[in-house]
Amino acid sequence: MDFQLNEELELLRNMARDFAESELKPRAAKHDRQEALDPEVLAQMSELGLMGLTIPEEYGGAGMGNLPLTVVLEEINRGCAATGVTLSVHNSLTASPVTKWGNDEQKREWLPRLASGEILGAYALTEPGSGSDAAAMSTKAERDGDDWVLNGTKIWVTTGSMAGLIVVYARTDSSVPKSKGISAFLVDPALEGCRIGKKEKKVGIRGSPAVEIEFVDCRVSGKQLLGELNRGFPIALDTLDGGRIGIASQAVGIARACLDEALKYSAVREQFGKPINSFQAIQWKLADMSTRIDAARLLVQKAAWLRDQQQPCGREAAEAKLFASVMANYCADESLQIHGGAGYTDHFEVERLFRDARITEIYEGATDIQRLVIARSLISQGA
Ligand SMILES: Cc1cc2nc3c(=O)[nH]c(=O)nc-3n(C[C@H](O)[C@H](O)[C@H](O)COP(=O)(O)OP(=O)(O)OC[C@H]3O[C@@H](n4cnc5c(N)ncnc54)[C@H](O)[C@@H]3O)c2cc1C
Repeated sequence: MDFQLNEELELLRNMARDFAESELKPRAAKHDRQEALDPEVLAQMSELGLMGLTIPEEYGGAGMGNLPLTVVLEEINRGCAATGVTLSVHNSLTASPVTKWGNDEQKREWLPRLASGEILGAYALTEPGSGSDAAAMSTKAERDGDDWVLNGTKIWVTTGSMAGLIVVYARTDSSVPKSKGISAFLVDPALEGCRIGKKEKKVGIRGSPAVEIEFVDCRVSGKQLLGELNRGFPIALDTLDGGRIGIASQAVGIARACLDEALKYSAVREQFGKPINSFQAIQWKLADMSTRIDAARLLVQKAAWLRDQQQPCGREAAEAKLFASVMANYCADESLQIHGGAGYTDHFEVERLFRDARITEIYEGATDIQRLVIARSLISQGA
């Protein structure tokens, strides 16, 4: 057992940390206000090789695994969570399934462009009538000659309005139990019939657009079927295992920013003639935040390590996401409390962090769905 990052990971972490400190933290409030990311940030992340972090080297990526991605995502999210989710969705929910299930032609077509940052990736599973019960989706893909014709509506597609590739899940067989008749498609959003709809007004991570996408007789080449026909739902679930590790890393990053702000503020705010960090009640809050952050990181890194060993990690990914997301909201709440009334205004970063933390308990499987996944795994193993 070794709890230390190796030299390569330490260099990677320092690079991501420096970038987040110098480029993201100063822009995070602006991203939130303008409800969009500065394009320079995406270009800089491409130059640093972060867009292709997990893409194999032969396709222009860095060929790294999930563990390095968690290290990077924690730092990026500590700087700006809207940027962090964009990077997570790009690597975990888009590049990863293409790498794992794409055929040679698909990999050659999409991976180099994802790796260079020429295009961004998105993942379209959720629909108005199917959220937690994703297999109940009604978007259909019907065969027409060599093509598939998509009809239906996806919602909450993160990065959907900026993406050059969307992994879309659609029903290809209605005659079988619902999870058995779903397939995954690699869809270029510039295709006719793929209509990017309204952008949601969100509580937090406002710099990251989440949009509705309507498919109206959208013709997708048969060459863009990802993996086997009617085997798309296992791809969606396996992809979510990786995505959950990414969101758990995001939660750790946001929580660290909450602790940073609490440490800073409590050192300068004086009451009763002393800095408030001299009061034991405040010190205990800081200690509890730090302890939970460290515990969450260990869960995240264990799940990522298992995934990198190609071992099953569904329960561990769900445990990491469950614990880290609840922990991030705890830290956001405590940090805001330490700021007193000042924390309830937009004069301090913690106000945005408090809003940003909230989503980690909802997307890529809400908190109770993580509990469901964990409990099912325990019961099925009889452990
Ligand atoms: C900002 C944002 C970005 C998103 N990005 C994407 C994206 O890029 N791609 C994508 O496909 N989706 C995306 N989503 C969708 C997200 O994954 C869903 O919102 C999430 O899975 C929950 O689904 P729902 O909102 O329909 O809630 P529902 O499924 O309606 O759940 C509502 C509540 O009921 C609970 N619940 C449901 N079923 C059970 C059960 N069996 N047992 C116990 N409790 C239960 C849930 O935990 C939740 O608390 C995004 C969502 C948001 C808010």
